Amino acid sequence: MLTNRINTLSESITIAISTLAQELKAEGKDILSFSAGEPDFDTPQVIKDAAIKAINDGFTKYTAVDGIPALKNAVIDKLKRENGITYAPNQVIVNNGAKHSLFNLFSATIEEGDEVIIPAPYWVTYPELVKYCGGTVVEIETQDTTGFKITPEQLKAAITDKTKMLILTTPSNPTGAVYSKAELEALAEVLKGTDILVASDEMYEKLVYDGEFTSAASISDDMFKRTITINGLSKSVAMTGWRFGYMAAADAELIKATKKLQSQSTSNISSITQMAAITGLDGSADADIEMMRKEFAARRDEAVKLFNEVDGLSVLKPDGAFYLFVNIKEVSNDSLTFAKDLLAKKNVAVVPGVGFGSEGYFRFSFATDINSIREGIKRIEEFVKEFK
Ligand code: PLP
Repeated sequence: MLTNRINTLSESITIAISTLAQELKAEGKDILSFSAGEPDFDTPQVIKDAAIKAINDGFTKYTAVDGIPALKNAVIDKLKRENGITYAPNQVIVNNGAKHSLFNLFSATIEEGDEVIIPAPYWVTYPELVKYCGGTVVEIETQDTTGFKITPEQLKAAITDKTKMLILTTPSNPTGAVYSKAELEALAEVLKGTDILVASDEMYEKLVYDGEFTSAASISDDMFKRTITINGLSKSVAMTGWRFGYMAAADAELIKATKKLQSQSTSNISSITQMAAITGLDGSADADIEMMRKEFAARRDEAVKLFNEVDGLSVLKPDGAFYLFVNIKEVSNDSLTFAKDLLAKKNVAVVPGVGFGSEGYFRFSFATDINSIREGIKRIEEFVKEFK
């Protein structure tokens, strides 16, 4: 009854673990979950107020499929002001979260047999959606020893005449690695003269603790032309449930194609979310964003220190996002069993590295209060002692 296409799709391992942890918690177990990819902060009040105003003003009807002009302008202003990239309204579309942007993008660009280069460890959704759209995933493996970043040589070696797209995530989920401007320039040099597209997922842009964030499209004219910039407000402004993401591309035809798909599938995103998102983008919530970033930075510092004190574990200090990708290779090379046993024996939920395409690690989200982080790492230490 089901299509081959849908059968190739796996359930998101991060959602599966978070759901299991929630179920165990509901059964009364003392679960500490470090599996979810969402801030533990509330959405800033200014954003909620904008949404409430939209409801009270009766702004509750269908809108333009690709977003109301005021919102598209807010996206355009943001990209110009903060990222140094200039787009026109027909080069921008808003979607139901960045995940939806990626789905629309891959649907519009990936043909059966096209190769898509995905650096591993990767965010779980990329390979699944690429396969769903008929593409072939070409992974480039990275390790903590090289900062979890691909090199120009690796990129060059992965390119074939079937390569359609490179997916870049900076800062990265699950490693927190941030590509510097120089590193992006070196990758851009490899792409010169090809017609390879770059999907630049910049979801964690605002959560950078060391170094500076650079948008891939801002590197050069050549990169601007080939890059599709994807971003949203889920992580930076704690708006995961509102479903807002966007995509910007030099190629207006590409944006038009995704608009066509959206017009026949989901239509416009929630009118209320659109009004809220303007406030999330225009600088009104900047103080809240900075407060969250500082808090995440303090948690990161403490969690990294505590993990590196555990005999058998090691972790790189991530430059951005809110995840640690903890190396467990001295203890186990089976991250799924490790994570399952950790949950069963110590009531601690983490996501096995194998789900992100990298065995011998687990992902630990520090988007949780500091006391839970301390207690969680203590339990993980006890578990590792017993495991060894
Ligand atoms: N991109 C990355 C790297 C993510 O980690 C996530 C969420 O986990 C998303 C995109 C999607 O975010 P949303 O669909 O909530 O905008």
